[in-house]
Amino acid sequence: MNQPYDCLVIGAGMAGAVAARELAERGGKQVLVLERRSHVGGNAYDHFDQDGVLIHQYGPHIFHTNNRRVFDYLSRFTAWRNYQHQVVANIPAADGRQDLPVPFNLVSLRAAFPPEQAAALEKKLLETYGAERKVTILELRESSDPDLRALADFVYEHVFVRYTMKQWGQKPEEIDPATTARVPVFLSEDCRYFQDIHQGMPLEGYTPMFQRLLDHPNLTVETGVDASARLTLEDGCILLDGEAFEGLVLYTGAVDELFGCRYGRLPYRTLDFTFETYAQDFWQSHGTVNYTMDQDYTRITEFKYLTGQELPGVTTIMKEYARSYTGAAGEVPYYAVINPENNALYAQYQAEAARYPNLRLLGRLAEYKYYNMDAIAARALELCDELLK
Ligand code: FAD
Ligand code: UDP
Repeated sequence: MNQPYDCLVIGAGMAGAVAARELAERGGKQVLVLERRSHVGGNAYDHFDQDGVLIHQYGPHIFHTNNRRVFDYLSRFTAWRNYQHQVVANIPAADGRQDLPVPFNLVSLRAAFPPEQAAALEKKLLETYGAERKVTILELRESSDPDLRALADFVYEHVFVRYTMKQWGQKPEEIDPATTARVPVFLSEDCRYFQDIHQGMPLEGYTPMFQRLLDHPNLTVETGVDASARLTLEDGCILLDGEAFEGLVLYTGAVDELFGCRYGRLPYRTLDFTFETYAQDFWQSHGTVNYTMDQDYTRITEFKYLTGQELPGVTTIMKEYARSYTGAAGEVPYYAVINPENNALYAQYQAEAARYPNLRLLGRLAEYKYYNMDAIAARALELCDELLK
């Protein structure tokens, strides 16, 4: 083998960056990272817009984890700004519009119902499920108590059904139950979106964190390079630039693309983002406002809440519109559409990948899973434990 590299990592998002660093640093390997985009960081990439506002190009990213190893690991590459994300659902009301905390909690309950009715429902909820419990909307809808079922219908109608239709093109009961379980009804006054022990934002942003992760003498990073132009997979053998590559190949892109979509495209949802900048300090009341009853977009995020950037007189917001991914140039597959049929199609690609002994699939796209950043970092660390033992 004439190749100067021991390992090839495709994609410089969380999966690729953490794994590449581990292979280079802990494993002492010479690692080549190929990234199709013009930048590192994957979907967590952030940058300053033309008005100097730090924005997240591919949707709002808030770091949160209960995994101590992941938190300590990433803390080597960034300091953190303590940020506890709060979200409200903005819904039409008799006298205009109303904000309800999401996840729907005891504060939302008291805002949505007259005091006596709210108190009675709260008592029943606490007696049935217990304080500080998280109950999924699908579970609450199965309650045998008619009052709790009516409450479930209210939450379903006001928080879940239209948002989920916009995001997935399907009703909550038609999608993977783990998806709506991410935002349960929370029998608490805690109005934070996440309850993880560690949560916050990289102090200087995600991109500098990724740049530090990838800054190692054993690491070469090439951006603006689509691996498909350099890599050939043929009968169990991998070629890099036309020569056999026998080192480890870690692939973090969409697995159907790796095999020319030969069994058909894996379904994903994509997002269209629109950015608007206003000459004012702040535009909305919270970091993210969900539009659960109307509008074509699912949510609006105002980045200054997340980043804590002090920049008077200017602010940028982002609207998210979801639709099916078609594979057209420039489209990004953001969310795997997880169901038994699509999992079976994924398994065909997985079996294809297994024919290449030096190929490993890692990441939200390559594993066709709904992973948060911390889960991806954990998987990258665990995979490297296995590879380097
Ligand atoms: P990616 O970030 O997608 O990185 C894969 C990289 O591989 C990409 O940069 C891609 O360009 C590159 N690539 C693909 N194919 C090729 C190829 N052929 N050649 C070269 N390069 C290639 N997680 C959280 O923890 N908190 C949040 O608040 C949060 N918010 C999110 C909001 C949105 C809208 C979305 C879509 C996701 C959010 N996530 C959040 C999830 C988070 O984005 C992922 O967990 C994480 O980015 C996954 O990292 P990854 O490396 O697996 O994938
Ligand atoms: N969801 C909803 N209404 C909301 C928030 C979430 O119906 O106000 C549902 C919806 O199906 C969504 C899922 O819960 O896709 C998960 O929401 P989350 O905020 O975790 O999605 P992400 O930030 O990953 O897009």
